[in-house]
Amino acid sequence: NGEYEEKIDYVFKVVVIGDSAVGKTQILSRFAKNEFCFDSKSTIGVEFQTRTVTINTKVIKAQIWDTAGQERYRAVTSAYYRGALGAMLVYDITKRQSFDHVARWVEELRAHADSSIVIMLVGNKADLVDLRMVPTEDAVEFAEDQGLCFSETSALSGDNVESAFLKLLEEIHRVVS
Ligand code: GDP
Repeated sequence: NGEYEEKIDYVFKVVVIGDSAVGKTQILSRFAKNEFCFDSKSTIGVEFQTRTVTINTKVIKAQIWDTAGQERYRAVTSAYYRGALGAMLVYDITKRQSFDHVARWVEELRAHADSSIVIMLVGNKADLVDLRMVPTEDAVEFAEDQGLCFSETSALSGDNVESAFLKLLEEIHRVVS
């Protein structure tokens, strides 16, 4: 597609994980296509989306995988994590339970993914300010404790989605280069 093919320096596989309905699919389509789809789940069956970005003069193709609803059945398999260099671990700032489960998702990553995987903890739905149940400080503390990057995003408004992905890709680039 296009007039010329860009030279790709790296392909980074990134997985998006977290409880059901926290906004994983929406965050991904916001980053990959700059879209928010009100009729969500039309993307079921699509395994990953890509977006190419330039970081420190390197052309990086991010291949970002969505669980496509498998997390509902605790059926996220090790094939999903295989080769992943980064993970977006998403919770919903309005659902305390989704944050309480973050520790389990970290364990899951430590068990199934590469030990050098870069993890970005993401508190999504930051636009729902009046419904917030998870204080930012709780997440900051957890992230520091576990050595994770952290950001609060809104897939709906687009706030911080781009910067969270770029930060994750930058960190991966630092690790692999
Ligand atoms: P997934 O199951 O984790 O992939 O979650 P989805 O991406 O399907 O989103 C679950 C629901 O939350 C949908 O109704 C989305 O429209 C809604 N949603 C996702 N992100 C946001 C957000 O940033 N703000 C708000 N207000 N709603 C969101």
